[in-house]
Amino acid sequence: MKQIYFFNEGNRDMRTLLGGKGANLAEMTQLGLPVPSGFTITTEVCHAFQANHGELPAGLMTELKASLIELEKRADKKFNDPENPLLVSVRSGAPISMPGMMDTILNLGLNDQTVQGLAKLTNNERFAWDCYRRLIQMFGNVVFQIPEQRFEKELSAVKADRHATSDLDLTTDDLKEIVKRYHNVYLEEINRPFPQSATEQLTEAISAVFTSWNNDRAIVYRELHHISETLGTAVNVQMMAFGNSGDDSGTGVAFSRSPVTGENRLFGEFLKNAQGEDVVSGVRTPKPIQELADEEPEIYEQFRAITEQLEQHYHDMQDVEFTIEHGKLFLLQTRDGKRTPKAAVKVAVDQVKEGLINKEQALLRIDPEQISQLLHPEFTAEQLKTKDVLATGLPASPGAASGEIQITAAAAKAANDAGHKVVLVRQDTSPEDISGMIASSAIVTSRGGMTSHAAVVARGMGTCGVVGCAALNVSEEDQCVYVGDQKLPVGTVISVDGTTGNLYVGEIEADSAAHDENLQQILDWAKEAGEVAVYANADTPADFEQALRFEAAGIGLTRTEHMFFAPERLIEMRRLIVAKTAEDRKPALAALKEMQTEDFKALYRLAEGKTVTVRLLDPPLHEFLPHDEKELNETAADLQVPVEDLRKRVVALKEVNPMLGLRGSRLAVTMPDVYAMQVDAIISAAFALQDEHILVKPHIMLPLIASKIEMEVLRNRISDQIDAACEEVGRELHYQVGTMIELPRACIEADGIAENADFFSFGTNDLTQLTFGYSRDDIGQFLPAYLEKGLLPADPFNTLDQTGVGELMEMAVTRGREEKHSLPIGVCGEVGGDPSSMQFFDRIGIDYVSCSPFRVPVALLASAQAAL
Ligand code: ADP
Ligand code: MG
Ligand code: MG
Repeated sequence: MKQIYFFNEGNRDMRTLLGGKGANLAEMTQLGLPVPSGFTITTEVCHAFQANHGELPAGLMTELKASLIELEKRADKKFNDPENPLLVSVRSGAPISMPGMMDTILNLGLNDQTVQGLAKLTNNERFAWDCYRRLIQMFGNVVFQIPEQRFEKELSAVKADRHATSDLDLTTDDLKEIVKRYHNVYLEEINRPFPQSATEQLTEAISAVFTSWNNDRAIVYRELHHISETLGTAVNVQMMAFGNSGDDSGTGVAFSRSPVTGENRLFGEFLKNAQGEDVVSGVRTPKPIQELADEEPEIYEQFRAITEQLEQHYHDMQDVEFTIEHGKLFLLQTRDGKRTPKAAVKVAVDQVKEGLINKEQALLRIDPEQISQLLHPEFTAEQLKTKDVLATGLPASPGAASGEIQITAAAAKAANDAGHKVVLVRQDTSPEDISGMIASSAIVTSRGGMTSHAAVVARGMGTCGVVGCAALNVSEEDQCVYVGDQKLPVGTVISVDGTTGNLYVGEIEADSAAHDENLQQILDWAKEAGEVAVYANADTPADFEQALRFEAAGIGLTRTEHMFFAPERLIEMRRLIVAKTAEDRKPALAALKEMQTEDFKALYRLAEGKTVTVRLLDPPLHEFLPHDEKELNETAADLQVPVEDLRKRVVALKEVNPMLGLRGSRLAVTMPDVYAMQVDAIISAAFALQDEHILVKPHIMLPLIASKIEMEVLRNRISDQIDAACEEVGRELHYQVGTMIELPRACIEADGIAENADFFSFGTNDLTQLTFGYSRDDIGQFLPAYLEKGLLPADPFNTLDQTGVGELMEMAVTRGREEKHSLPIGVCGEVGGDPSSMQFFDRIGIDYVSCSPFRVPVALLASAQAAL
């Protein structure tokens, strides 16, 4: 088995074996781009290493030795050669990009002798010692887990001693002093010296990269992004290009388009006379790449042309790392760039227009969940008018949020666990902070640029973020953040606007997202491509308007009970429930009918002929009754009935298990006039709209139907009522009467029920509750334990349980359509908006899903992806 591939032996299709970084370095080499020579040790070696309990597999050494000889030949330098030393970087790279998660070692091959050779060779002693001190520091940290701060402490001490403000102020002698101190750190911390042999450095580094596959932050990252543990990482060994060789050198990172807005122009940063992590670590604040155009126009143009070539080649926006050594450009990495949801839709739409990709590729490229972030709130100009800006940083990740200040990842996580909304404010962030960043509603740093760790991670998570906010001074010692002479103690609530980079003191309520043309375009394409239509669950005209803006096909579920909780309605509802006879109920019913008619008119008017599915009253009646003594007294007074009478009624309606009690269509059996009133209101509303020449398609849905006979009786009653009303005034009305399928029994007798149903709509919430026997309201008691022990793959109320509940659904679809070939079937439970269930819905022949308005775009895209 071949364990090592030179870059010119691989290509981009080999990412499973070579990792993403290695495969793309190979591809760029094949394209003839200036990539420093090197080779990749495969992910298979990582597997062998793990299986071998952390020992490099036999045979690797022989292959490694041969590869080194070949690399020496290509570089015309030699490992351990004091005159002309070969220096390399050792870089991890998994098949799926895991930014910042694994560790990289630069300048490997330097030791007390070769550092002098490098100095002589480059005629730059300071540079050589700077490389050496970086190597010792990175190597100690990555290979021996010596804490970063141990080295930082020595560095700071020397800097303070020499009154140096920046690393660049340090002289050669200062650097030599630092190296001396670093050597001592090894002796103090691990009781052994820094290894002088380049070969030993290399094998130790390779083992460390393989080991780092299982470090804590890599594990957290993989969990967060659902990346398999079994992939493993490759190791890339590559000749160094030196960005720290002087003012004609530098290093940087750039995207071929803006990863924030999607705008089609080079976006990135660079630092002169710097190496590797200097740019992304946020330790020095880099310059915008456009300044390179002024300073080094030829190199800028060469680089710009290469990013364009890479985009054309990969058919996607690229994120490119580069280094300039004495005016010569080298490429060190390319990958598909991570981007904000806003940028994702813009880039996809633009690239279709440019002919780079087709519509299908555009639709497949956007993560449906990402779209939901696009719809996330912003602070409006109106809200900000009265606010003073506290400070401004770089707008690294859009969105808007408020929360209390926390200044460490651990405190952020703890505060969030305690139920607080948190804004994590730090000087900069590093991969160790990942769990605190996940727990935060917003992330703010005082240092670093648009490609700093904080910025990249915030964008990836869709969390709003502001970086490089230099006015902030974070003090762990004083447990506060200073802004000028203003002191904000930990716990102070601030608001973060990731779109402008502004910070504000205090809470600001965020407003729903503004219109995005590119999203609209994507939704239009999705609608054409999708086979499962998307309707909205909407109880109010405002909900429905929102849903229509998101291209909902109509209303799949209006829960009429939600219309009864407004105070002026609740009292009539209570009057109705308290009444003893049908006669006594009449005045309340008349009042309610009036209000319901107006509700339905408003929805029908907005629908302009689209389907509006109204579900008749579903919940147990006692939900409408007073819950405590105070409310009881007030209600009795309002209704002008004796308190005792009301109390008796409340007691009489009390049920041991209301969710399995007098609710849904059972209400129609015991109290027929309630549903009759609702149907009456639907008829009146429909007739009124007909008078306005607006098309109406009322769909009436019966909840909680269990059997064929129940459906038959209730359906006929509704049809008779509507037909009689139509006949009386000589009109026609195109209506449908269907049912929710939400009891396991209904799935079994779906054929019988279908005889009298014009449509089915799965109520997956109740169906899941009743199939598992899990009370929706009490699942919190045991769900976490089930998830943790692996007894459930996911919360079945969020992600459809395909093997159990899904099987029942499939049975109901088959049986229902045996009876009625073209029976329309939908899903209106919570999982209707879950992208991961969409493929299943598509497969079993679901015609439409219905979900909350903000999930509509997500479901539209998921539907298109399921069909493609
Ligand atoms: P990550 O996966 O964290 O991005 P990389 O392996 O890309 O880590 O290395 C981090 C940085 O180190 C790169 O962006 C680059 O600036 C620098 N680097 C890596 N290899 C080399 C090399 N051969 N020459 C110069 N710089 C290098
Ligand atoms: Mg990199
Ligand atoms: Mg239900």
